[in-house]
Amino acid sequence: MVIKDLKKEISSLIGDRDGQLLITGALNMSVTDYILKDRNEISNEKAIEIKECAKRILSGEPLQYVVGMTEFMSLKFHVEEGVLIPRPDTETLVEKAIEVIGDKALSVLDIGTGSGCVAISIANYCKNANVYSLDISDKAISIAKDNAIRNNVKINFIECNILEEVPKGSYDLIVSNPPYIPSEVIEGLDSNVKDYEPRLALDGGYDGLDFYKRITDIAPSILNKEGALVYEVGHDQAQDVKKLMEKDFKNISIIKDLCGINRVVYGIKKP
Ligand code: GLN
Repeated sequence: MVIKDLKKEISSLIGDRDGQLLITGALNMSVTDYILKDRNEISNEKAIEIKECAKRILSGEPLQYVVGMTEFMSLKFHVEEGVLIPRPDTETLVEKAIEVIGDKALSVLDIGTGSGCVAISIANYCKNANVYSLDISDKAISIAKDNAIRNNVKINFIECNILEEVPKGSYDLIVSNPPYIPSEVIEGLDSNVKDYEPRLALDGGYDGLDFYKRITDIAPSILNKEGALVYEVGHDQAQDVKKLMEKDFKNISIIKDLCGINRVVYGIKKP
């Protein structure tokens, strides 16, 4: 089959944009080749495989899980059920962390690492940082380990239930995009989120703030002098999280994402 015909068929099922992402992902093809080399032939088996994938996407499965890959901070990450799909909003968190770290040899802890996208991006763009990734899920840790190898960075992994344990060590920066959806809101989410993405990565308890309360509480004991804490927060949580941080943190700032939503809260540990 000629790619051009496959394109038409897939686009009619899932639209042009997802069609392009699926076909380039499945054929490991650049966007330029997708546009310029669409008279190339592909095998019938491959075409059937791609059509099956399109049907899975049509029935609600997230494209990133079907393709098994997504891009974040211009890096490639393997994703599958069991880890949250990295969101563009989270790049605001990573950019703040990168700005704080620069070329300094800081030790950085990412709490709730999931696919590892935050920690791995930091390690990739801040070559002198010593990065630690923590997660409760052994599946997430094994996917994040695989992503660290794919991206050629060294990360130290810690399996830990942050709600009950305090991780060992001391750090200059703690970053976290924790689960922050209030429990009862989860049922109302789009089915491709609530039926496929791990509840463990979404559910922030009754008011969505469980992880912010706990991490803000224990952070001072594992942060070095002048150490900092930076969170991604839900669209309406920045003020609540800022309030939680006011006891032990100073110079608290709120940073907007590209959509103009208060997305990141940053503060420095008080003396
Ligand atoms: N740190 C990962 C991410 O930002 C996972 C976050 C999570 O599971 N809540 O995508």
